[in-house]
Amino acid sequence: MKNKIDKLGAHVSAAGGVSKAIARANSLPCRAFQLFTKNQNRWESKPLESPEIKNWFSELEAHDMDTSAVCAHDSYLINLASPDPVNLEKSINGFVEEIHRCATLKIPYLVWHPGSHLGQGEDVGLKAVAENMDRAIEISTDDSVKLCIETTAGQGTNLGWQFSHLRDIIGHSKYPDHLAVCVDTCHIFAAGYELGTKKQWNATMSDLDEKVGLDLVKVVHVNDSKKVLGSRVDRHDRIGQGEIGIEPFKHLVNDKRLKHAMMVLEVPGGMEAWEEDLKLLRSL
Ligand SMILES: [Zn+2]
Ligand SMILES: [Zn+2]
Repeated sequence: MKNKIDKLGAHVSAAGGVSKAIARANSLPCRAFQLFTKNQNRWESKPLESPEIKNWFSELEAHDMDTSAVCAHDSYLINLASPDPVNLEKSINGFVEEIHRCATLKIPYLVWHPGSHLGQGEDVGLKAVAENMDRAIEISTDDSVKLCIETTAGQGTNLGWQFSHLRDIIGHSKYPDHLAVCVDTCHIFAAGYELGTKKQWNATMSDLDEKVGLDLVKVVHVNDSKKVLGSRVDRHDRIGQGEIGIEPFKHLVNDKRLKHAMMVLEVPGGMEAWEEDLKLLRSL
């Protein structure tokens, strides 16, 4: 019998190999988790080798888990809007590799940042993202992984801080069926979306529903924010300890329109803090 599963979890470390993340998640305890399938700050990576792939599936089985509530996060280096041809080529290849790793591990969701336009302007940047993502999809030939575009705080020239950006990327793509969305509570708050009262929460969710559709939200990053509303600065905080406060998280975990989505913490503090924050969220 599968353990009672809610879709609440955390981003856990994959130090020592991807299979190690499974026991870490289980010990929190949670059944939903996010991981990096390779070093997020480097271009190069060893390919996943068959013993590690075998360990991944045997660890899942040992913990009576499956991958239905597992997502991977892509490397921070990838910029599918890059105007530099060398960097763009690396980004496309890196993205293809990320898709491939997810497919190998049967991870259904890859969360990725839409990247930075670096002065080209938002409209040009959003078209470039869609076009280069489409190239990656064509090269990878895999259609088992949903590519979840993450909402960003809008630091510098980062794209994705307006819900309309996500709509435009999906609209420009030839492969909208491959796409989904990841909402990060810290990022949308820092980008200026109000979450505080029930009315504000509902208005923000209605806006998201209108622009992209709440059914497309497959992953939620559950983070408080150290920075104020509209700061456009991305600094995560523990749940209820930052500028967002506890109230919006109550709206989030009880919002029936998001029931299908997996939700993971990306907050500071390490395993003990995450265990506490998960307890807190489950009590709301
Ligand atoms: Zn996030
Ligand atoms: Zn962030």
